[in-house]
Amino acid sequence: MAEIQLRNISKRWGAFVGVHKFDLTIPDREFLVLLGPSGCGKTTTMRMIAGLEEATEGDILIDGKRVNDLDPKDRDVAMVFQSYALYPNMNVYENIRFPLKVRKTDSGGHDERVRRAAEMVELTDFLHRRPAELSGGQRQRVALARAIVRQPNVFLMDEPLSNLDAKLRVSTRAQIKNLSHELKVTTIYVTHDQIEAMTLADRVVVMNKGIVQQVATPTEIYDRPANSFVAGFIGNPAMNLMEGELRGGTFVGKNVRIPGLKGPDGAVTLGFRAEDARIADKGEIAAPIYSLELLGDATMITVKAGGALVSIKAPKDFRAEIDDPIQAGIPAAICHLFDAKTGERID
Ligand code: ATP
Repeated sequence: MAEIQLRNISKRWGAFVGVHKFDLTIPDREFLVLLGPSGCGKTTTMRMIAGLEEATEGDILIDGKRVNDLDPKDRDVAMVFQSYALYPNMNVYENIRFPLKVRKTDSGGHDERVRRAAEMVELTDFLHRRPAELSGGQRQRVALARAIVRQPNVFLMDEPLSNLDAKLRVSTRAQIKNLSHELKVTTIYVTHDQIEAMTLADRVVVMNKGIVQQVATPTEIYDRPANSFVAGFIGNPAMNLMEGELRGGTFVGKNVRIPGLKGPDGAVTLGFRAEDARIADKGEIAAPIYSLELLGDATMITVKAGGALVSIKAPKDFRAEIDDPIQAGIPAAICHLFDAKTGERID
């Protein structure tokens, strides 16, 4: 059992706020992903939970017990970092066993635990090798096994895949997902890669400038972003965001006019996803083509509308030239409205 409660934790260095009032309960066995751009406070939040960084204010509870004043080693959390510092002079077996030795756990069960952890990350055949004789992905798996072998209640993973090439990242990602399921531990995972977040998480926390923007399932984050920051951060491409005015339920901006919306009159930001829009003979956006990109399975058309460059996904056989006038169907049903000033979602 390991429920983690973060009660309004903040981290400040002088006047600079790294994390501001992070308040969340992470239930036992949840896989929680902290996602956000560089410098948004993900690692700092994680380090406060691990005890490597002191919270300036707020309480951290693990299973109802306040741990703010406990040393990292007494918190029963295991961390996996992006730089998986392995001991070069020890072989894989010894590297995995190391935390058990340091902790002076009953040495009787060591061998079995090491072998079981190695098996979980498919390293059984490499136990005698030294780190220098392993690939990057294998080294990363040794680091994972070293965390697993401790049988902690909480796993903290900080960008554990960032040193791997794209292909290895996908397979190791699948392995982490499988492991977390099998080990049934509460996991907090830091990444700036939204694909990783969306595929691994039970819930995602999107952060920006030290402030939590939204906490929700990957589907909710994608389908109902809480504000224009989340909308503009999630998705590939991210949601199109146009500036304009709502007048009697009609959004009006440069090259765009969308009726049938609900919301108070005034300045708004309107969002829609490129894949929800359709090139049409007559539609809500009318503008010359700014650019065309062949993606293989589709063609991405970009036009200027509502003071922004917006993308519209067209079929792969769509043919046109830059500056050709086109129209796109952006029905109200695919639109998201946000307050122009605060960025908050308008329902
Ligand atoms: P990245 O994805 O780049 O690792 P992050 O979201 O993990 O970013 P943090 O490492 O948590 O970001 O840093 C949050 C902010 O706090 C950054 O602006 C960083 O410069 C600042 N910061 C981190 N450590 C310190 C420190 N010891 N003193 C002052 N500022 C710090």
